[in-house]
Order: sequence, then C-alpha cells, then structure tokens
Amino acid sequence: MATLEIRGATLLTMVEGADPVEDGLIAARDGRIVYAGPAGGHHGEAQPDETLEARGCVALPGLVNAHTHCAMTLLRGFADDMQLKPWLEEMIWPTEARLTAEDVYWGAMLGSVEMLRAGVTCFSDMYHFAEAGTRAAVEAGIRVCPSGVLLGFLDTADEMLERALEFTARLAAEGHPRVHPMLGPHAPYTCPDRLLRRVADGAAAQGIPIHIHLAETRQEVDESLAAHGETPVAHLERIGLLETPVNAAHCVWLTDRDIEILAERHVGVVHCPGSNMKLASGVCPVPKLLGRGVVVGLGTDGAASNNNLDLLEEARLAALVHKLHDLDPTVVDAGRALALATRGAAEALGLGDVVGTLEPGKRADIAVIDLTAPHLAPGHHLVSDLIYSARASDVVHTVVEGAVVVRNREVVGLDEGEVLRQARARGRRLAEG
Ligand SMILES: [Zn+2]
Repeated sequence: MATLEIRGATLLTMVEGADPVEDGLIAARDGRIVYAGPAGGHHGEAQPDETLEARGCVALPGLVNAHTHCAMTLLRGFADDMQLKPWLEEMIWPTEARLTAEDVYWGAMLGSVEMLRAGVTCFSDMYHFAEAGTRAAVEAGIRVCPSGVLLGFLDTADEMLERALEFTARLAAEGHPRVHPMLGPHAPYTCPDRLLRRVADGAAAQGIPIHIHLAETRQEVDESLAAHGETPVAHLERIGLLETPVNAAHCVWLTDRDIEILAERHVGVVHCPGSNMKLASGVCPVPKLLGRGVVVGLGTDGAASNNNLDLLEEARLAALVHKLHDLDPTVVDAGRALALATRGAAEALGLGDVVGTLEPGKRADIAVIDLTAPHLAPGHHLVSDLIYSARASDVVHTVVEGAVVVRNREVVGLDEGEVLRQARARGRRLAEG
C-alpha cells in the first residue's frame, strides 16, 4: 500500500463553506485521500512511504482544466490575432492535417509537463490521435479525459466515430485509474445531425459523457438559426444529444431559453475566458448561468488560442472579465473563481465524486503552492492572493492519484529536456509546412 503525507501546509479543501485549515495534514493511501484536516486530528501512518514538508505553502485540490487540445502546444504562438473562422480554416486545420501520432505524443507531453508544473492534475483533451495523447498523459502522470475529435465534414467521419468508440471501449475495459474517456464531436456546426445522433447512441451505450464546443461565436448562432431555425443549444436538445451527460466548452452566445435547457439537462459548461478574449468571441454569461444553477468549470482551450495552459491565470481572467463586462466588481469573486478551477471543473466533467475537493475517499490529486514569494506578501487573504497574485511558477509540488509527480518544482521521472527538444523540432516542422 503506497502512502503519502503532506504536512504543515494551510489546507484549502474547496469543500463548499469550509474555512482554511492552518497547519494541516493530508494523508493518502493507494491513490485516495484518507484524511485532510488539522494535523492533530489524525494519527497518520507509522511510516509513510513519502512525506512532503509544506510549511509556508497552501495545499488545495489539483486544478482541473476542463477543456483543452493538449498537443496544440506545438502551435503556440503560430497564428495569433486572427478571427476564429480564418484562424481555423486557413491556419490551424491545414497545419493539423500534417500532424503525426508522434507529434501529438510529444505535444501532449509538453502540455502535460506545463500543466503539472502549474498544479493542474486533470485535463479534458479533445484532439486528434487520441491514443498518442492519452499515452503521453499516462506516462507523464497526469489525469486525462480523452475525447478524440470528430470532424463531421471529413469523408472519414463515420470511420473516425467507429475508431473512437473502439478506443473508448478499450479504455473502459483497461480501467486505468487516471483515464476517463469521453466522445468528442467538435461542434454542432462541424458535425451533421446524423453523426451527432450516432455519437449520442454510442455515448449512452458505453455510459460515457460527450465533450463538445457549443455556441462559441455569434456567427455559429446566426448560421444555426438560418439552417435549423433554432439556436445551437436548442438544436442539440431537439436531436437528443443532451439526453446523455454533456460537457460543453464556451457557451458564449446563449438565450434565456438556452440557459434553461443547460440547467434542465445538467450540461456542464466549460468557461474559457482567455480563448474567448483572444479570439474576440464574446463573454460567457457565467454569473447568470451560476444563478440558474448550471454547473460551470474552467478551461484554457488549446495553447494556440490562449497561449498557455496555466489555470491559475485562467481563474484570474474569469474573475476579471466578468467585472469589466458587467461593470460590477462583486461578480465572480476570488472564491468563486477558485471554485470554477477546482470543484466546478470536476463537476462539469462528471468527475465531482472523483476529484475537485480534498475529502476522504476522493483521489489524492493535490497542488501545493509556495506562499513565500514577494508577490504573495503580506498574505492578508489567501484566496485573493491565489487568484489575483499567484503564478504557475509558485507551484512547488503536484500530486496525482497519490503519486508525487512534481517535487520541488521538478517533474518526476521525465526527461524534460528531451520533451522540449522534441516539441521545438516538431513545432518548427509543422509551421514550415
Ligand atoms: Zn476548444
């Protein structure tokens, strides 16, 4: 039985309503949390396999990046300051057509290393060559929700779906504790109804969720209204896609009726403020969604439209953009922003019973953040400091499934130099065409 203890940190369990715990102890056994509370409240293990001394730090649930395309790290900075449609059609898709499985493996390895160093312990990955991306995540030690990507306008869309269903069935049979498969139709505007219905049937048969982009741009909504006489959300509802669990990225352009549908169907909304700002897509109505009881989590989207996978930064953007948009500094406060990046993102992915808080029985996915840097002093308010001042580089240890994967700011068991060499060479080759 593998045992781990984290001693001395202030604990932010992110359990709703719980206060920070000074001088806390987290004990984990076989990948699961057995205790998270005051040091005096648990006898601990006689001899834990590993102990992390974390005085001067805060320990919180590992951050959950509920929407990204991990291997797009290879296209970071490749095509910036463009409209979404030409960005996708002229730059991203033609370049992605040249990707190999090995490119995706190294791109996903780069993204996994970047996220682990930033305290992100779980990510939802919609991307090509999902087997290669998943293999990288498993080897890097991070938790992953792979969904592949289905582009309905390709001649091979039906074949892609067959392969995706085989892949998810195989993953379910293997039952890796850090892999949570999903199906990933790209978006309503890139997938015909016939394909989306088959996706819904396949997801229901396998008992897995669907991950999709939804209502990202005003153009998408206008085109849906012209083609179907209804919004993208109403359309997915009508064709039956929302009868299985769905988590939907962006959800920027929503009518009140759309918000009702998302609430009634328990759709998990993944807010991606960095990407939405960079592509000038618009602002997801997060305060309104939360007010209506919709589950909302946070995602970075791909590194080509962000341009990093730093979820603390994303939480800061979430806290800031709604204040500016609503001209109200009280909306999406620091506590809410941190909840979006942890508990909310886990719930949006359907993993609310697995990760997202520090509670006995949940998987031991933990971020330990050093609070001793000048930009975090004097330390008036822990949660405010995390959201408005902390940086990915303040993360000192990261634990996934009870295993220490970043120790003292170094990724454990990986040749990071080789990851960077491969990623640079492959990124250059892709950009040159
Ligand atoms: Zn995306």
